[in-house]
Amino acid sequence: MIRKPRKPSLELLTLRALAPRFPQQYPTYKYFEKDLGRAESGYKGEQSIDYYLNVAARSNHNLIYHHLRLLTPESAFQIDTLTLTPKFILIIEIKYLGGVMLEFNHETNQLKQTFQDHSVEMHDCPLLQVKRQANHLKDWLNKKGYDQIPVEHLVVMTHRSPELKFSNGFPECNRIIRSSFLDFSISEIERKYSHTVLKSHELSNLDFTLLSSHKEKSPNVLQKYNLHLDQVKKGLLCPKCLTLPMLREKKSWYCKRCSRRTNEREELLKALQEFSLLVSPTIKNSEFRDFFGVYPMPDM
Ligand SMILES: [Zn+2]
Repeated sequence: MIRKPRKPSLELLTLRALAPRFPQQYPTYKYFEKDLGRAESGYKGEQSIDYYLNVAARSNHNLIYHHLRLLTPESAFQIDTLTLTPKFILIIEIKYLGGVMLEFNHETNQLKQTFQDHSVEMHDCPLLQVKRQANHLKDWLNKKGYDQIPVEHLVVMTHRSPELKFSNGFPECNRIIRSSFLDFSISEIERKYSHTVLKSHELSNLDFTLLSSHKEKSPNVLQKYNLHLDQVKKGLLCPKCLTLPMLREKKSWYCKRCSRRTNEREELLKALQEFSLLVSPTIKNSEFRDFFGVYPMPDM
């Protein structure tokens, strides 16, 4: 049963909102473009495992949570997908990395990604990352009084193209799998555990605790790319051709590029959401007028 559905993260929504407004000649634009691309492909990769998670999701005893972010006393950790069952917990780290070859090295704890043009990019080994998350989760569960439940981990590589290669003696290479193997891996893990650890009411309590402990990260993107609000392109965005700004004509908005005409209230509400993602969840009337060149603010 899906308890927390997969949705674009606040970070991805914010990057999307900034994309048409980011001045492309600005020095940090290339970093922004890369981050947006990475966030979009990561989300696409995560969606691609849903088909293979379906079998697990059909059982009422398997509770599935996507994008769970839990706080520790020091910071926070995020889990791409967590499956809670009465016998064990499984956490899944999802990676969407293309290229021709992905080489996992357990001695350097690095992942080497080789592309068609022979260029190379190095990453931290995702197995190390998911193990760290498993440790954080075990500590977190201990503090909440759930110290008996075993925590299993998997890394799923969702891009179909690259060949996966492991260094000699790589431990736990069966924990780094392709999406299409996910249902088999889950069945293998299920076979390891015959003993029920959580009674039905404990499962419900932990379900509630997980859901109520989730804290979404709200990124400050303007600060991240060293941008001031005055530098981003202002105005209302055309929902059809993404041109800025739309012009106000009588009681509607008009795009001079694609001639799209839209309802005022609907567009203002959308603009308000964009503003809250980019700048602040609270907004002064004067800030809104300045950013979108409109008056007055719609009644909320
Ligand atoms: Zn347009």
